[in-house]
Amino acid sequence: MAERPATLGEALAAARGRLPPGEARLLLRGVVGCTAAQIAAYPERALSVEQARRFADLVDRRAAGEPVAYLLGEREFYGRRFGVSPAVLIPRPETELIVDLVLARLAPGAAPWVLDLGTGSGALAVTLALEIPAAHVTAVDCSPAALAVAGANAAALGATVRWIESDWFAALEPAAFDFIVANPPYVADTDPHLAEGDVRFEPAGALASGPAGLDDLRRIVAAAPDFVAAGGWLVLEHGYDQAAAVRALLLGAGFADVTSAPDLAGIERITLGRRP
Ligand code: GLN
Repeated sequence: MAERPATLGEALAAARGRLPPGEARLLLRGVVGCTAAQIAAYPERALSVEQARRFADLVDRRAAGEPVAYLLGEREFYGRRFGVSPAVLIPRPETELIVDLVLARLAPGAAPWVLDLGTGSGALAVTLALEIPAAHVTAVDCSPAALAVAGANAAALGATVRWIESDWFAALEPAAFDFIVANPPYVADTDPHLAEGDVRFEPAGALASGPAGLDDLRRIVAAAPDFVAAGGWLVLEHGYDQAAAVRALLLGAGFADVTSAPDLAGIERITLGRRP
């Protein structure tokens, strides 16, 4: 007797107890290419043998800890789908606040020069290029593999960004950017959080930054004054307990109007300052 193909409902049932139902549905949608509503409405729809095999493999890998975003190869950021791979940090919702802070400081009709440092998937650079069509956006990363992911995202989403392989500002000529944004590594090397959950699978170089997590933030702030236009902004994401330290760095480097903004969880997550 021929083997009966598994159905959507049976596939989800097989994952029950191993994965949260929401994650199993996301993986199944990725395999079958359908919506959550379709899965709910047609649980008797059959999977091909290949789809059933792929789903079982994704469930195993997720159960072993691999992030859903890497398994699906994508994550949403600011309402758009970004391709991701283990070469880049998975975009996080708190980083969307950087986009809002830039948009709120944009003069009407401005065509700002924008620099994204350590662009990773390109989430910030591509989003800013699309949200500010007149902007001139440059993005750097020290990882060629990350720049390949970012470039593919820009192409898929129709954004124009100048990509440069660079260790922070190292490969850039002095310039006058109106906005410099960065979500640099800022986790302390010894933070136990690095050994938990999704971050175990993310590039260590995009997460950890010295004993206090401040090494890269220090380097960026120290070099930034040569690259920010007078009146321009430096906008930095940092750790939950680093806002005061980053404000002090910015004030020490001569920035004015230095403030921190809370993320959705109420944690001061972004600190920004303006070059007088
Ligand atoms: N927010 C991330 C985390 O806690 C860290 C991201 C980063 O270092 N830029 O895992």
